[in-house]
Amino acid sequence: MKTTVLKVDWNHPEKDKISIASSAITSGELVVFPTETVYGIGANALDAAACQKIYRVKERKSDNPLIVHVSSMQMADKIAIIPKKHRRHVESSWPGPITFVVKARKVLPRTVTGGLDTVAVRMPRCRIALDLINASGVPIAAPSANISKKPSSTKAKHALKYFMGKVQIIISSKDSRYGIESTVLDLETFEILRPGSFSAERIKSIFGKAPQAYTPTLTSKSPPRSPGLKYRHYSPSTPLFAYAGDSTAAINKITSGMKNFCFIGSAESCRIVAAPHKISLGSRRQKAAIARNLYATLIDLDDIGVDFCIIENFDMKGIGAAIANRIEKATNHRSFSTRRELNAFLH
Ligand code: AMP
Ligand code: MG
Repeated sequence: MKTTVLKVDWNHPEKDKISIASSAITSGELVVFPTETVYGIGANALDAAACQKIYRVKERKSDNPLIVHVSSMQMADKIAIIPKKHRRHVESSWPGPITFVVKARKVLPRTVTGGLDTVAVRMPRCRIALDLINASGVPIAAPSANISKKPSSTKAKHALKYFMGKVQIIISSKDSRYGIESTVLDLETFEILRPGSFSAERIKSIFGKAPQAYTPTLTSKSPPRSPGLKYRHYSPSTPLFAYAGDSTAAINKITSGMKNFCFIGSAESCRIVAAPHKISLGSRRQKAAIARNLYATLIDLDDIGVDFCIIENFDMKGIGAAIANRIEKATNHRSFSTRRELNAFLH
């Protein structure tokens, strides 16, 4: 397939280019576009065949539902039942990096909801995304723009790397501001199904009560309520392990004699660690920047050609919870604090 790349201004999206992209949406094609969280791969949410293409192109399992993006409350009401008691809270949270899981209306194809009777809905803040939805006149189902299991695109160049030749249009613009997907909040149970760019602290301040963290147990028989939780995610091809010890300096002892590896961490830790390759995510004091740089760093890591990579952990405050969650998934829960534990992963 020939992919058209449209360069669009982040703050003032050009009408003619948005109109080319919206025509692709209404004729059942796929459009990759930026949002403030990560880039998304979108289709008309009311068109089952178009949404099917998303699963195919992303190589995504069909039981892992898509987030539906809307540009107004009226549009949300057409596909979802927003509980009355939370309506004003939803209105104060949107537009922004938070997705609500609520009961779905019948118009929505089951392809979108992965067979569930609920739907995940979000109103993005990014102007390009809003203009695209408005011009299309339909809600747009759009999961993150990555091939399943790989880190999501936060930069246009990574969206191009994944989807050139596979979708009709790619909108290329600035980097996503948050760099980590939206928070998914189940409005029925008031549980965070996926931590994200909208912090639990912020949810508490808007809704007046603290959300619970949803942690499915590995032994439970029923499938997790958020199907995406079953799958491996965000992983580079390079083997990645998280350092779970307290002392950054201890990494040097643990890795002494090891030659071809990379360390990813805060600027402060990069000054201490003596790895042959180091990538700084930014200052530990600026977690927003760490979140913004994480996925792009994980994608670029594979170009260095190291045998393995060590990434450090971050604290759980604010967006830290989402960063920690993505690192846990990217490492496939592999963390170490001694040389013996690291060696066990390497051999
Ligand atoms: P992505 O679209 O790649 O950002 O992932 C969307 C996330 O939202 C996945 O983890 C899905 O499992 C989750 N999700 C989407 N729809 C629902 C739903 N109806 N109920 C629970 N989780 C959902
Ligand atoms: Mg995703």
